[in-house]
Amino acid sequence: MIHTLPIPTPFAVGRVNCLLIEDDPLTLVDTGPNSGKSLAELEDGLREHGHKVEDLERIVITHQHNDHLGLVGVLADRSGAEVCALDHLAPVIEGFGSHAEANDELAEALMLRHGIPRDVVTALRAVSRAFRGWGGSAPVDTQLHDGGELGFAGLTLQVFHRPGHSPSDTIFFDPATGDLLGGDHLIKHISSNPLISRPLGGRSGEPGNGRPRALLMYMDSLRETREMPVRRVLPGHGDTFGDHAAVIDERFEMHERRARKIARLIAQRPRTAHEIAQAIWGNVAVTQAYLTLCEVLGHVDLLVERGEVAETDRGGIVELHPA
Ligand SMILES: [Zn+2]
Repeated sequence: MIHTLPIPTPFAVGRVNCLLIEDDPLTLVDTGPNSGKSLAELEDGLREHGHKVEDLERIVITHQHNDHLGLVGVLADRSGAEVCALDHLAPVIEGFGSHAEANDELAEALMLRHGIPRDVVTALRAVSRAFRGWGGSAPVDTQLHDGGELGFAGLTLQVFHRPGHSPSDTIFFDPATGDLLGGDHLIKHISSNPLISRPLGGRSGEPGNGRPRALLMYMDSLRETREMPVRRVLPGHGDTFGDHAAVIDERFEMHERRARKIARLIAQRPRTAHEIAQAIWGNVAVTQAYLTLCEVLGHVDLLVERGEVAETDRGGIVELHPA
């Protein structure tokens, strides 16, 4: 039996779904962010099903974002639960702070290179540091592998690496029921941002154009998931849903429309990726500069791969123009 426990987060995305798998071992998939409020609601959720934190025997993490793994250290300490994660994700869970710092360095270099002003970059870096407190660390006891399995007394989950939204995205599939524990790989009501992050190994981002091509990687991952005999998706945010192939097709259409829009802007005149983000999202391109930059660069990667757009370095800042 799998229960969804929606736990509050301080982020724009709203609540995050932790999944309680009532089987042997008693398992929690994702933990919520590292905050007292989130922990209190998680404890309420566990109590509704007759459990407490100390009863947890296994904690599984779907990916490296702080709304999904923040409480891992607190919960593992209190319960003694076995912590399980994909092999590529394990070092991030064990060293969240230093990993986040290295990721911010990559983001800073990318932002400056694509036309975001230095003062905006400095402000965003401070915000990112403050957000790091919602994350957390724990030793990983068991490393999982792409194509491997996670066994319970009453079910077996297949483990698949599906990088794109983050380099460590992992999904878990029960072939007996068709349930897919999707994390942030596939969410019904929002498209998962292909955030550019440090590659972690596996297929998590061979660099192209001097950066990991997150959107191309994400679309490859979606193509693989589309072919799976999924009956319902239990996502990391929002409601459980069916017809995953239709949701994936909608995403492909949305990315195609966005790529066309960006190609038109570049055809008008050469621009930086940040100028494109501002043309599309206005002021949001400043307050959410990295997010919107990743959206633009992902689609630029698509257009570069098709031979429609090229990048030229002009004194350290990249200008995008028709190929
Ligand atoms: Zn995420």
